[in-house]
Order: sequence, then C-alpha cells, then structure tokens
Amino acid sequence: MDVYFDNAASTIITKEVLDEMIKCQKDIFANPSSVHKFGRKAKTIIENCRSIISSKLKTSPGNIFFTSGGTEGDNMAIFSIARSKKIKNIITSRIEHPAVLQPIEHLMKNEKIFSHFVDTDKNGNIDYQHLSCLLSKFESNTLVSLMHANNEIGIINDIKKIGEICKKNNAFFHSDAVQTVCHYEIDLSAIYINSIAASAHKFHGPKGVGFIYLSEDTMIDPYIFGGGQERNMRAGTENISSILGMTKAFEIAYKNLEEESKYIYSLKEYMVEKLKNEFSGISFNGLSEFSEKSLNTVLSVNFPKSKSSEMLLFNLDIAGVMCSGGSACSSGTQIKSPVLSEINPEFDGKTVRFSFSKLNNIKEIDYTISVLKKLIL
Ligand code: PLP
Repeated sequence: MDVYFDNAASTIITKEVLDEMIKCQKDIFANPSSVHKFGRKAKTIIENCRSIISSKLKTSPGNIFFTSGGTEGDNMAIFSIARSKKIKNIITSRIEHPAVLQPIEHLMKNEKIFSHFVDTDKNGNIDYQHLSCLLSKFESNTLVSLMHANNEIGIINDIKKIGEICKKNNAFFHSDAVQTVCHYEIDLSAIYINSIAASAHKFHGPKGVGFIYLSEDTMIDPYIFGGGQERNMRAGTENISSILGMTKAFEIAYKNLEEESKYIYSLKEYMVEKLKNEFSGISFNGLSEFSEKSLNTVLSVNFPKSKSSEMLLFNLDIAGVMCSGGSACSSGTQIKSPVLSEINPEFDGKTVRFSFSKLNNIKEIDYTISVLKKLIL
C-alpha cells in the first residue's frame, strides 16, 4: 500500500485542474500581450483569474501578481520592498522557510541591511512583546517578515496582530502564506499587511506557479525587467495554463473549505489519538493537538531515540508511507532541520512530519500505525 502523507511538501493535482490546464494548452496558444483576437482572449483569461483570486481575498485585481511559486513570491516581496523602500532593518524569526531567510541573509551580506530575530517559544509561537520591543528601536524603514504558518511544525501566527504591531511602529509587513492560502479564510481588507506569497502546488494546483499580493501603498520597483507583463512588475510571457490551473484549484479549495478542513482535522485528531495510545514517550511539535493554532494539515511527531529511530523515515518509505523529517529540502539528509533545532535543541530522537490532504483517509492512518508498530522497537 502506498500512503502519501507529504502534502505540506506538495499536493496531488486534481483531475478538474488538470483537465482545465490541458484544454488551455491546446486551445489558448496566442501570446496574451498580442492585441489581436486570440491574444485578447488569452489576456482575458489571465485577468479573469486575477479577479477570482482578488475578490475571494477581499482585495483588488491590481494587487495580485502572478509568480512561479512561493520561493519567487517571498524573494520578490523581500528584495523589492527592501530596495524600493530603503529598508535598513529586517525583523524575522529563525523558523521561517529558506525562501525568506536566504534573501534576508543576502541583503545582510551584500546590501548593508541588518537582520534581527524575534524570539519564539518551544512550540514556535512568536513572542509578540519581543516583536514590539525590537520594532520600537527603529524609527522607520523596517521590514517585518513573519510567516502565516510554519510548514514543518504547523504553528499558525496571528498575522492580524502582527500587522497591528507593524502599523503602530510604521513598519512594512510581509508574510509567507504558502501553507495557509486555500487552507484558511484570509481577508486582506481586515489586515494591515503589505504582501503575502502563495503557491499553487500546496492546494492541489500545478507546480511552478503562485502569486503575491502587494497592497496599494507598497508600490515597488519592477522585480523582473522586460516586456512589461504583470503591470511592469514581473516581465515575461505569462504561464497561462498554470495560472488557470491554479485559479481552478483555488476556487475548488475555497468552495469546499469548511467541510474539507473539518475532514482533514478529523484525520489529524484520529492519528494523534492512535499515536498516543500505541506509543509511549512521543510528543508533538507546534501545538499540533490544538486546531486553532496549528495547521490541520500538519502533524509533527517526536519519536524518542531508540534502536530504530535513526532509520525511521527510511523504513516508513520502504513500507510505502511517504512523509518527511522536516521540510522537503531537509528530508533525505540526516541533519536536523534548523526549525527543529531552534524549537527543540536537546531532542535527540526522530521527528516525523505527517501532512494530510482531503485525498487521505482513515485506512491510510491505520496502515501507517501498523507499520510504525512493527518499526518502533
Ligand atoms: N514557504 C513555505 C512555508 C513553504 O512550505 C514552501 C514550500 O515548501 C515555500 C515557501 C516555497 O514554495 P515553492 O515550492 O512554491 O517555491
């Protein structure tokens, strides 16, 4: 039996999405920048996608820019805001995704921008008081980059609260929302926030496409120069079938959000109960047992050090259970991920991230538990 419990790394593209993309690849071949009939048709499709996404997130189409995914979105927001707004200080946390931490490190090394890390507790919760304290030290030209939810441990940050703190301190605020767009309701009109990044393959859309939101008052210099697409911000002929596929996946996700979230959370709850009953000494990261502060899609489990713990991921894989040790970039290596090292430095056992989607079921959890029972000695 094959069990795919690595949905935080990537989700399965659904048939409806794929059908829409194939049809588009066949029928819509013209360049959306061409002014003739076929070109205009292609352009209309893209603008329709932009409107669907913006209206759901309660913003204007002009604030949505299509990208190649989460990594580009984070890079675009951080580099562009830092450079256009002459940012001097960036505040982030040590448990952000590399798509945020690496651009900040680059800016620090090469563009004389200082970075500061807000404290997080052992569950990955941000110390909001520390954030206020850090911000109060800088008069202006500060960028805060804090993710909406962490991909490895599932902790959810209160972006409304962070936004209020940023507003009070006159700071720019970017949030990596790759794990929450299409998994949670997001009302951008109710949050003080300059930018968010999203990625389609995290919500049953295609890989290599995503979008960023940029608020009206965050007008920045172009990120990619060229033919003037995306209102001059990100040049290059648009990836129209992927944009269409992403929008289809976006619509499906939000249409069924409540029901599917409940279902996914019930899977997580079921697995937590089973694990607690069957294995002693395990613990969970990122308050994984509490839905309101933790992604329903992510369950991060610490298995105590034992004869079998070192090879646990490998042996799960052999038995057909696909999950990961941390983020996809750090699985496959034996090195503890920086996020896990930050929140739980003393832990010497094995952390496994099981991440769920609407396409998983209880049978798969039962199978995984039976495999774990054989593997954990
Ligand atoms: N940010 C977070 C929180 C993620 O989980 C990921 C993907 O793993 C990314 C950014 C990068 O997104 P993409 O794979 O679309 O480049």
